[in-house]
Amino acid sequence: MKAAAAVTSVDGLVEKDLVDGAAAESLRPVEEAFAVRLTPEVLQQIKALELGDPVFAQYVPQLRELDHWADELDDPIGDDAHEKVKGLVHRYPDRVLLKPTLTCAVYCRFCFRREKVGGGAPGLTEAEMGAALDYIAAHSEIREVILTGGDPLVLSPRRLEAIVARLAAIAHVKLLRFHTRVPLVEPQRISPALLKVLRLHPATRVVIHVNHEAEISPAVAEALAAMVDSGVPVLSQSVLLKGVNDDAATLAALFQRLAALRVSPYYLHHLDKARGTAHFRISLKKGRELMAALRGRISGFALPAYVIDIPGGFGKVPVNADHVLEISPGRYEIADPWGRRHRYSE
Ligand SMILES: *Cc1c(COP(=O)(O)O)cnc(C)c1O
Ligand code: SF4
Repeated sequence: MKAAAAVTSVDGLVEKDLVDGAAAESLRPVEEAFAVRLTPEVLQQIKALELGDPVFAQYVPQLRELDHWADELDDPIGDDAHEKVKGLVHRYPDRVLLKPTLTCAVYCRFCFRREKVGGGAPGLTEAEMGAALDYIAAHSEIREVILTGGDPLVLSPRRLEAIVARLAAIAHVKLLRFHTRVPLVEPQRISPALLKVLRLHPATRVVIHVNHEAEISPAVAEALAAMVDSGVPVLSQSVLLKGVNDDAATLAALFQRLAALRVSPYYLHHLDKARGTAHFRISLKKGRELMAALRGRISGFALPAYVIDIPGGFGKVPVNADHVLEISPGRYEIADPWGRRHRYSE
């Protein structure tokens, strides 16, 4: 039996009836700018072939992605400013991001790294990975390594094992974290071999990226349970997206479902200003109102922190009165973790 294949182009979307032939022509420049990829699992999660479907809207390209605004950035969260060696971002003293690959299992239309991922750029070579690991070994202040990308879980368990084994051998690396969308979009990758890799370092956490309850199919729930059952704590991060999850009932349903699956909601991200994502944007004011509506409505431990990444590489801060001050409608001053203030407008 031939396994169902991923859809990796607008033509593939036409074949599956997700885009019609006429629209396909106008979408060519979009796919040239930003990679397209949907897995068979995602195709099953899509229930209606329209933008009102929360899964469809996250992965099927739209013409509006060609609308670019002056305040949108190629590197909205400023990773580049803190890249110490290739594939390694050291912004906070105690934590680093390690990006072994720039490939993902799917390409989200609102991705904050959309200029970098999916271009077919190869991941780190052996030598580059060696240099990144040497940097970590040489910096004893690094307590946590966060594997991200791209999506680190698209790598084979064998390649991951080589990386994790080396990290586990560095005494000062006390914590390991994976940021991934794979359990949601390709749950069959959560295999016994992968679970073994996740247990190699004694304090490994997995942070899944999930934005709507519709993404949690039975196969996904099973993959999440397999991780939790094997002793790996699973947390979640979500992005607040207009038309996908920007109402309190939808968010409450998502966070409660995650909690019931023993996944801890960690962050709700305000959307970063990546190019061609304005149609997904809601205001900070609306985001705050949604969070206020959730408080008191769901278990405290099921409520993530609402955070914003300050453009330019100044860090993530909670969207609360301590950090985000409205100066006039739509204009803000945001204090970074070091107390410096930055202008922000919408
Ligand atoms: C988000 C991020 C981290 C992790 O931050 P936590 O608040 O610990 O989840 C680390 N480094 C960089 C550069 C980040 O953007
Ligand atoms: S899986 Fe993550 S990195 Fe990859 S496209 Fe989606 S948001 Fe971007």
